[in-house]
Amino acid sequence: MFKFGNIYIIAAVAVIGGALFGFDISSMSAIISTQAYLCQFNQGGLDSDGKCVGPTPDVQGGVVAAMPGGSWLGALVSGFASDRFGRKTSIQIGAVIWVIGSVIVCASVNIPMLAVGRIINGFSVGICSAQVPVYITEIAPPTKRGRLVGFQQWAITWGILIMFFICYGCSYIDGTAAFRVPWGVQAVPAILLFCGLCVLPESPRWLAKKDRWEEAREVLALVHSHGNADSAWVRREMEEIREMVEFERQNADVTYFELFKPKMINRTMIGVFTQIWSQLTGMNVMMYYITYVFTMAGLASDDGTGVLLPSGIQFVINVVMTVPALLWMDRWGRRPTLLIGAFFMCLWLCVNAGLFATYGKPATGNHNAAVSMSITGAPAKAVIASTYLFVASFAPTWGPVSWAYPPELYPLRVRGKAVALATSSNWAFNFALAYFVPPAFANIQWRTYVIFAVFCAAMFIHVFFMFPETANKPLEEVEQIFDDTKPGAIKYIGTPAWKTRNTRAAVLKQERDQLASDEKIDAAAHKESVNA
Ligand code: BGC
Repeated sequence: MFKFGNIYIIAAVAVIGGALFGFDISSMSAIISTQAYLCQFNQGGLDSDGKCVGPTPDVQGGVVAAMPGGSWLGALVSGFASDRFGRKTSIQIGAVIWVIGSVIVCASVNIPMLAVGRIINGFSVGICSAQVPVYITEIAPPTKRGRLVGFQQWAITWGILIMFFICYGCSYIDGTAAFRVPWGVQAVPAILLFCGLCVLPESPRWLAKKDRWEEAREVLALVHSHGNADSAWVRREMEEIREMVEFERQNADVTYFELFKPKMINRTMIGVFTQIWSQLTGMNVMMYYITYVFTMAGLASDDGTGVLLPSGIQFVINVVMTVPALLWMDRWGRRPTLLIGAFFMCLWLCVNAGLFATYGKPATGNHNAAVSMSITGAPAKAVIASTYLFVASFAPTWGPVSWAYPPELYPLRVRGKAVALATSSNWAFNFALAYFVPPAFANIQWRTYVIFAVFCAAMFIHVFFMFPETANKPLEEVEQIFDDTKPGAIKYIGTPAWKTRNTRAAVLKQERDQLASDEKIDAAAHKESVNA
């Protein structure tokens, strides 16, 4: 059967899996304020204006959290499916599960049905979010790996944006079609993902692991050497894969316990906390509950759709501001990017907390309890601006780095398990926050922002003292940071993190070397394919 070998086509199809992640994140935010949704899933009766109040904050939090809860489970079990059935097949399984979840969510008539559909959708997203980066990493040429994995984050932001605007458009339809149409339409990209994967090759590393050496060679030739299975590139890659597979077979007993041994625990904690802190920035408060925040800032109209356009702008900012990271993330280095991101997010959260504390008033009327404050005039505009600036600070920093950094920390032997653990922490905290934010707004109002600001300050300190620089370093050099025993090094930690740097000279040299080696390999592959 015909298969595409162009790595950009392969990545473009695979990251539709990332877009599903984004779809689920924004599939709620544009809908939770509309009357169609609030009336269908009403628990609070009618407010003083005769409008539906919708689910209680606890239940609303539970409905939103059902998705990350399912994703946490999906990410954990995805490793088994992927080892057994293959990377490609496991992503296809994820696509089928997504379609089932979307049908249930689209048809839901009550809260339990909606929650079950979202758990199923989440399960699919868990599989895709963990396995798409694995598939891309294993099939991409080494020099393009970082950027191609970064595309996953970009696909997430596109998914959030596209779904939000579909929901926005549909909010003008009368009746329950306002949410049924978008929740049904979201099945389409999963069908495209499923069909697209049929004409993509399987991961050569997985094929080799299953002793399907000939197929692995064919895939490498197709993707990297214009179909020439005997090229220098393919021979070298096959050699490396063979060594890796043999090494893994001799060390087959690597378990999760290994990650908690004294020599490894520091790295495990850094990877896990990269994902935990990315959630504790509070970014998903903006992603899931932005319409609440903008309703408090007085943007709501009678039918609840007035907040949607200004909310949509933040999703555009999220997409656009991810681009600089795709271009320059490796030059900036991981440490400065994370530190600057934490600093600015802390700042904007403090601004919002201060504005609400000083100018906010308790909201009046018997409406959604999570919309607990009201702010007007210039301070309301400042809240909106500072919310946008917060998103513009997350998008080029913690967003992409939280996916690129963890895989760089570990030796190959434990990488798969360590990254799975880090990804599942993302989902565990995503779940907790999705659930906790509406009751937090209802009960402690503007202090919710203070909690996230404190987390940002804490992550700044944690990164400064514990997160070493990994950008532009061969993975062996990263090993040496952690294994360092020279004077000045710290036992079980190695070189102090603040002494590890990403120097401009090293960056330039690395870029030159990569380019030279790329060109050499490409030229050799081309020559051989012409001769063949
Ligand atoms: C995070 C998501 C978040 C998204 C926003 C991702 O890196 O893991 O939780 O919603 O970025 O763009």
